[in-house]
Amino acid sequence: MRQAWAGVVAAARRTVADGLVVGTSGNVSARVGETILVTPSGVPYDRLGPDDAVGVDLDGRQVLGALAPTSELPMHLAVYRATDAAAVVHTHAVHATAVSTLVTELPLIHYMAGALGGPVRVAPYALYGTEELARHMLRALDGRTGCLLRNHGTLTFGPGLDAAYDRTAQLEWMCRVWLAASAVPGRSPALLSRDQLAAATDKLRGYGQPR
Ligand code: 13P
Ligand code: ZN
Repeated sequence: MRQAWAGVVAAARRTVADGLVVGTSGNVSARVGETILVTPSGVPYDRLGPDDAVGVDLDGRQVLGALAPTSELPMHLAVYRATDAAAVVHTHAVHATAVSTLVTELPLIHYMAGALGGPVRVAPYALYGTEELARHMLRALDGRTGCLLRNHGTLTFGPGLDAAYDRTAQLEWMCRVWLAASAVPGRSPALLSRDQLAAATDKLRGYGQPR
């Protein structure tokens, strides 16, 4: 449990270091058995130590720690209830948040959309920390491992913190590419077809070193 908490804190600190959030925005969680370790609400990540672990069960009941859990508990719990996720990362990354205000789905600008399961949807706006936002997010996540939240940010999940974090970074990067290409006056970016994306998604399953 200590090691898992250290991983949650390290990932949360990295969101600040990498410029994916400012201050105490965003939140990170990881599942250990039936316990969900979550970042506390409104506490700077560099102040979190080994004794500050916050844990809840799948019903949101606090089972570990004294600090109040993230206000986005409804989103984190919704992901763990609906998927086999072991980690969830929520950020307010600049380019992703900008894109969330412009489209209802990130246009297929790059094949790395395949790493998130396909074209990334934008969940309709709802007040932060609400069950309504969690419901919108879950719909946007159907068949995907990440989505954008309108006028708010990103949410991704994965089999571990590294994978969940990497999906956020790839999503933010794709949003940046799309914005850069879309900003050229008089031109609009070429997009991939569904077939081209499907081929890339398939190939990505074998990407990297042989397992
Ligand atoms: P917390 O500090 O409660 O985790 O909230 C940050 C946030 O991003 C809310 O959407
Ligand atoms: Zn947020």
